[in-house]
This record gives sequence, C-alpha cells and structure tokens, in this order.
Amino acid sequence: MKTMPLHKQPVYIGRFAPSPSGPLHFGSLVAAMGSYLDARTHQGQWLLRMEDLDPPREKPGAADDILRTLEAFGFQWDASILYQSTRTLAYQEAVDTLIQAGHAYPCTCSRKQIAESGLIGIEGHIYPGTCRNRPAPTRQRFAIRFNTESHTVTFIDRIHGHLTQHIASEMGDFIIKRIDGLFAYQLSVVVDDAYQGITHVVRGADLLHSTPRQIMLQQRLHLETPSYAHLPLVMDENGKKLSKQTQAHRVDKKKPLPELIAAFEFLGQQ
Ligand code: GLU
Ligand code: ZN
Repeated sequence: MKTMPLHKQPVYIGRFAPSPSGPLHFGSLVAAMGSYLDARTHQGQWLLRMEDLDPPREKPGAADDILRTLEAFGFQWDASILYQSTRTLAYQEAVDTLIQAGHAYPCTCSRKQIAESGLIGIEGHIYPGTCRNRPAPTRQRFAIRFNTESHTVTFIDRIHGHLTQHIASEMGDFIIKRIDGLFAYQLSVVVDDAYQGITHVVRGADLLHSTPRQIMLQQRLHLETPSYAHLPLVMDENGKKLSKQTQAHRVDKKKPLPELIAAFEFLGQQ
C-alpha cells in the first residue's frame, strides 16, 4: 500500500483504559497490546485512561501497579494519563443534558422490584421502564436511567463484522448514574472517549454487548462514534474469562519478554 503524504493521513487516536480493580492480568495485557499495535501501525497516538470511577471496587495501589507494569513492558503513551476520578463534573453535565432532552429519567425502583418483572436479557434482569413517565421523585435517593426508547443500533466491528442490537428488549433502560451517586461505566466511557478525541477503540470482546449502548449515548449527546474492534477474550483452563480478581493470571513485571511474546502470539502475530 502507498503511504499518503503526512498532512493527508487520517487521524488515529487509540487508547487503553484499565480499571484499577487489581493488577494487570494477561487478558488486559492482550487488550493493551492490541490497541497499542493497532495505533502504531496507523502512525496513531495511543492514550491511557485510568478508569478509577468506582472507589468501592478499587484495590489500593492497583492503578500505580498497572502503570509500572505497562512501563516495564515498554508501552509508551502520548499524553498525560486521564484519571476518571477527576471528571465527575463532565459526567454530571452529560447526565443533565440527557435529562433535559428527555433521554434520561430518575428511577427509585429497588433491585427486588426489577427482578419481579421477570424479564431476562443479555446481562441479567431487564428494567421494565417503570419510572419512565413518573413525576419527579420526592425521595432523596434515586438512580438515573437512560431511555432506550425502541432504538436499534447497528455497527460494523472491525473483527466481528455487522452487529445489531435492539437495546430496549436486549438490555433495557440502563443506569447512567447510580443511586450512590457514582457514574456508570457506559456513560463515563462515552464522555471520555469523546473528550480524548478517540477515533479507534480496540478492547476485549467482553465489551461487545456494551458498544450499542455507547453508540446510542453518543448519538443522544451529539458525539462522534469511533471505529470499534473487539479482540478475542483470553480464557482460563475452565473456559472462563480471566478476571482481575484471580491473582493467578497477573502478569509478572520482572519477566516482560515471555509475557509479551505470549500476548503477541495470542493476537495471532508472529
Ligand atoms: N475499564 C474497562 C475494563 O477494564 C475497559 C473499558 C473500555 O475499554 O472501554 O474492563
Ligand atoms: Zn424505576
């Protein structure tokens, strides 16, 4: 392929967005490497975002440990790290915008009430929309849900191809701000991908079912939709996705080379 002159090169800004709920494990290393190599192949930038917006699920020291591991492995990021814990004003602004436009509403339902509806979707119980048309709650504590209306989202994943989701029936109206005041991942990821100017998202396939919700949020907030590629998931011996909770699969900072080679091979590179 001919290379284009520099000024005509399409812009590429990629990112890796770990959550500090534990040390970097092999599955996250694969996501980091996949997004890094894709960015570098496209002469793009690669940004780092620490998704530290859920203090109860954070492990003390995990954020620094992840960064030290990435450094030890030779990853280089192109701007200062964005910490989601510094971004609550921006998230609140997005929530307010959605409420004002009628795309989000307060919900006072308990988990039990939602379970009673008996609707099951891809991620468990589907919220039946009970509070959609209720007057503003007088109670102090409520969550904010996004109104998915009857919107169908279709997108083309660079690895998985065409995907379509009818969000209302497969996911239901989802929470964008929790009853404890914390902002939900689906909202913060959309606000920050836009804020950082991300053009290409490369991440694990566990988030494939989240992408339609993120695209619908982008549409309602008038934000650009990046291109998406969802990498195959690394499974453990029992066919389960590796999680941060299992210490067994944390990558060893002191042995970067074998880990890097294994991740490289996992991605089908030679
Ligand atoms: N913070 C998320 C995770 O560690 C990833 C978010 C994303 O890549 O969109 O699973
Ligand atoms: Zn409700």
